[in-house]
Amino acid sequence: MDTSYLLTHLGEEREDYFNAVIPPIVQSSNFSYDSLADFRSAILNELDNFVYTRGNNPTVAILRQKLAALEQAEDALVFGSGSAACAVAIISQLQAGDHLLSVQSPYSWTFKLISKFLSRFGISYDFIDASDLQQIEAAIRPNTKVLFLESPNSLTFELQDLAACAALAKKHGIRTICDNSYASPIYQNPIALGIDLVIHSATKYLNGHSDVVAGVVCGSKALIQKMFELDYMALGPAISPNDAWLLLRGLRTLPLRIQKANEHAKKVVDYLAQHPKVDYVLYPGHPSHPQYELAQKQMSGFGGLFSVNFKAKRIEQMERFSEALMPTFLLAVSWGGFESLQVPTACFYNLGTAPPPPLPFSFVRYYVGLEDPDYIIDAFEKAFVHLED
Ligand SMILES: *Cc1c(COP(=O)(O)O)cnc(C)c1O
Repeated sequence: MDTSYLLTHLGEEREDYFNAVIPPIVQSSNFSYDSLADFRSAILNELDNFVYTRGNNPTVAILRQKLAALEQAEDALVFGSGSAACAVAIISQLQAGDHLLSVQSPYSWTFKLISKFLSRFGISYDFIDASDLQQIEAAIRPNTKVLFLESPNSLTFELQDLAACAALAKKHGIRTICDNSYASPIYQNPIALGIDLVIHSATKYLNGHSDVVAGVVCGSKALIQKMFELDYMALGPAISPNDAWLLLRGLRTLPLRIQKANEHAKKVVDYLAQHPKVDYVLYPGHPSHPQYELAQKQMSGFGGLFSVNFKAKRIEQMERFSEALMPTFLLAVSWGGFESLQVPTACFYNLGTAPPPPLPFSFVRYYVGLEDPDYIIDAFEKAFVHLED
């Protein structure tokens, strides 16, 4: 389906709401029926009808259609956060006694879900280097039910060969789930590569305006229906109609925004990669990335997120350098919005309690947003004096 058509028209039955160009926010918890027969048939299929907003809602339903089509999936469920989407997608495929395989460094709360939460319910797991197919194959057990992928991840940008992983998993009757937040559906479509379920933190590119926390799971009608009927309805992670409406608004400009972030990040990464105070950059779209060829094969673009390790001798230098980049780069988590952001690893040093992270204090994750790349490069140019000895 044409992306322009789906973003502008798909799911928008305008005659149902006064031919308004923009769909209404149907801020209602429940929906009434004219006859017992109609009520009964709606209750029998809550996924495709409007009974109660914890399940489905007219504003949310438009969003579901668009997100499914964007990922070339048959259906989608929308959640109140990306973490809820991850949790429900994973839980829906497992029961006590099952085993899960996951990429080594998934998103931090996905890591905790697997290692601290699921283990409470008798689910075993292994974190593996999933860039190596032989490692995956060697880790598969008779009770392995899920292979969890995140390609690339959002801090160190390791990739997995999604088509090869999907084929291997299918051979062993294992479901594949891929967190596709980094690439967005514009730059990577895991379902087309054979992955079963695709999840997104819609908080990032899909909404894109740093004003909504949301998530999505896309997959076949059968998988989504099953997930909906028990896991989604029982756990209750629904998005509010108001947030769904904001997400619909953000989605209109998704291709424009991510193309700009991609273009700007490329320019900034090229500048940083040749700077004498830069040790290395990590960006799947840069030829120095260890999996550059795989990235070129399965992704069509890279967006605004990358990391840099600087040549800094002391943590104080990194503190001054990072503060000099403000407010061009706000000191904040998340990414995928209009605004550039930085998360210096130095923030996680000297916490007093936790041990320092496995990354050097000179490592920083950047998100380049919609600002002029020359304005961003100029901020770096000025900040670099703080890294001089
Ligand atoms: C942010 C993020 C999540 C979690 O999404 P929330 O919307 O913050 O709950 C999951 N995966 C990745 C890759 C993320 O960046």
